[in-house]
Amino acid sequence: MTGGAGFLGSTLVDRLMEAGEEVICLDNYFTGTKVNVARWIGHPSFELIRHDVTEPILLEVDRIWHLACPASPRYYQANPIKTAKTSFLGTYNMLGLARRVGARLLMASTSEVYGDPEVHPQPESYRGCVNTTGIRSCYDEGKRIAEALCFDYHRMHGTEIRVARIFNTYGPRMFSDDGRVVSNFVVQALRGQPLTLYGDGSQTRSFCYVDDLVEGLIRLMNANHNGPINIGNPGEFTIRQLADLVRARINPSLPFVYLPLPQDDPLQRQPVIDLARRELGWEPKVSLEEGLDPTIAYFRRSLGLDS
Ligand code: NAD
Ligand code: UDP
Repeated sequence: MTGGAGFLGSTLVDRLMEAGEEVICLDNYFTGTKVNVARWIGHPSFELIRHDVTEPILLEVDRIWHLACPASPRYYQANPIKTAKTSFLGTYNMLGLARRVGARLLMASTSEVYGDPEVHPQPESYRGCVNTTGIRSCYDEGKRIAEALCFDYHRMHGTEIRVARIFNTYGPRMFSDDGRVVSNFVVQALRGQPLTLYGDGSQTRSFCYVDDLVEGLIRLMNANHNGPINIGNPGEFTIRQLADLVRARINPSLPFVYLPLPQDDPLQRQPVIDLARRELGWEPKVSLEEGLDPTIAYFRRSLGLDS
């Protein structure tokens, strides 16, 4: 698993280790931490390797879960050229490994391949509206070329690929300074700070709880559909609604502060998950209202506020 020390990767590591799999976790710790996988360090079926996926690596494996890539705009925009390299070279190196050892590779793609969508909600057949020269393109276009590489390895070399288009996911193990909206709002509310709404807060996102997402990835890896498949929760919320939900759970009297909408921020996003329902027998079980509680409890603990 690449990116196995990150938010989604480490949750997936837990699921695989608990199922008795052997896991090799590769990570450069840019946005991940050993703490996320600490419980498995020393376990005979677990190996943790500091490795940057922009460099090749030789290993004997039969499944590759390729998740390495910073996911939060704050981090993927910090060094956009590195982000593009991670997506392109990282996926190229992992596909090379998959081809050499005959492994099946699942690539963590993203709803960002749809850009600022003109089609709503977004089915897999929608080809997207991405600004190739904007500040998000290192990530969006990086994931698009990563998808293209997967399908070319499949066509040229018969490499088994699975492509998950992941929509906004939240839950325990996000970093408190991650910069994504759920962690920002929860941490701000727990610290008694105003909630930072970018723009007027009318833009929408569809938030999937991490356990649902990981279940979808496991089903996709084991299924026979080589993708791409949307994995996300179709429940669509404005950012203002999300802020209200967080505030209501922590401190309803907290104010909002309105900040400029970042460039190319998508106005709406909602997955069509008919394909996942049909091919994987999967749909999310945890509503945003339910998933916020364990997320808030996690941040309370990680900020040392649960005394
Ligand atoms: P994350 O930032 O928590 O995890 C990414 C992990 O990859 C981190 O541990 C980081 O250190 C590692 N990494 C980054 N660059 C690397 C490199 N060059 N070499 C080795 N390791 C590297 O993000 P996440 O939310 O867990 O996302 C995991 C994957 O899922 C990413 O590929 C992301 O693009 C994709 N995704 C996530 C979401 C979401 O909402 N969480 C949505 C769409 C797609
Ligand atoms: N956002 C916000 N306040 C924040 C962080 C984000 O209003 O403190 C908005 C952001 O502008 C975007 C949405 O929330 O419209 C989701 O942002 P995030 O970075 O979580 O994910 P992405 O934009 O990549 O979907």
